[in-house]
Amino acid sequence: MSEVLHQEKSMIAIEQIRSQFPILSRKVNNQSLVYFDNGATTQKPKSVLDAIQKYYSEINANIHRGVHTLSQEATDAYEHSRKTIADFINAEHAHEIIFTRGTTESINLVASCFGKKFVNAGDEILVTEMEHHSNIVPWQLMCEERGAKLKVIPVDDNGELILSELKNLLTSKTKLLALTHVSNTLGTVNDVKEISSLAHKNGTAVLVDGAQAIAHTEVDVQDLDCDFYCFSGHKMYGPTGIGILYGKEKFLNEFPPYQSGGGMIKEVSFEQTTFTTLPYKFEAGTPNIEGGIVLGAAVEWMKNIGMKNISAHENELLQYAIQQLKTIDGIRIIGEAKHHASAVSFLIGNIHPYDVGVILDKLGIAVRTGHHCNQPLMKHFNIPGTVRASFAVYNTMEEVDKLIAGVKQAKKMLS
Ligand code: PLP
Repeated sequence: MSEVLHQEKSMIAIEQIRSQFPILSRKVNNQSLVYFDNGATTQKPKSVLDAIQKYYSEINANIHRGVHTLSQEATDAYEHSRKTIADFINAEHAHEIIFTRGTTESINLVASCFGKKFVNAGDEILVTEMEHHSNIVPWQLMCEERGAKLKVIPVDDNGELILSELKNLLTSKTKLLALTHVSNTLGTVNDVKEISSLAHKNGTAVLVDGAQAIAHTEVDVQDLDCDFYCFSGHKMYGPTGIGILYGKEKFLNEFPPYQSGGGMIKEVSFEQTTFTTLPYKFEAGTPNIEGGIVLGAAVEWMKNIGMKNISAHENELLQYAIQQLKTIDGIRIIGEAKHHASAVSFLIGNIHPYDVGVILDKLGIAVRTGHHCNQPLMKHFNIPGTVRASFAVYNTMEEVDKLIAGVKQAKKMLS
């Protein structure tokens, strides 16, 4: 991804974009806010805030079950959003898009249903050493339950997957491989298409954690040919509490239900219940109607700017930040993969990342510090955590300069 983008120059009107984010004009500790914690959650543009307001002030009603006008309008808006999201990731069918609470719930859904249907004692699940805890623990619990084994693709010291190991790790028992598209700590972009193809040749299903990719690059699930792709609304300029599970129809149809209740049944009697079709089979109970509708507005907002433009701009910020950080004596960049996007992690000598984060906050600069829900990866690098600056389309080169000045100041104060 980033190799190609090096040749591109971003085409965005940054001030026009920034003016759409009310929060960006607030002060933090009497300083202009510099928000570099986008990997944790992005800020929201006015069109998204307006969509929330519009939903509750104009069409709020429960969906799918009402004959009255408001219910039909809310249903139409919710289903329109599902279609918008399906088109955005080039899913073959809108019913392959399941609304969930977020990436974590999407992965839990697959781990639970895939485990029940396809995993038996002695089988194996593959994850990578760079996974977020959300893409480790659900598999670990499922493996315990099914008597299966969790195996791990290691990373090298640049933060790249050691793909030569993959051939040994894929066996006739490997039922599923779960990997991140972009690492939340290292920024490594994994070659999902190539890995999917290797896994499929082995008869292994592939789940991709797209939490850190979806707002930063074009995603085409048919081209990647993954079986499942998971992401969260709040990391893509949308609201919290809403996310997506994309799943190939053939798997979702075979899965047992995840949660049960209203909305997911065909017929209920005390003797037996039958279940409805996709996508509703996996959307028991009243869903997050507002979140679903507004996520569609967030996708429209990104599409308006253009994913290529977003990627190109963020890549310029990333490359500049890395280059500037490297001019500071004692800086150690964690994650120097050839294909790198969205975030840079670093340490200053032996200074604890938390202390750097506190000083940056005093300067109005929001970064994330700690293990980033990547404890096994921290163990690999033998570090307690990192300072992570993660980018969004509204960030500027001047903000990178402020970050660099802040890091220099933190170094001076803490050395
Ligand atoms: N996977 C990755 C790579 C992440 O970065 C995150 C969140 O930071 C998650 C999964 C979990 O996302 P959520 O908390 O929105 O479910």
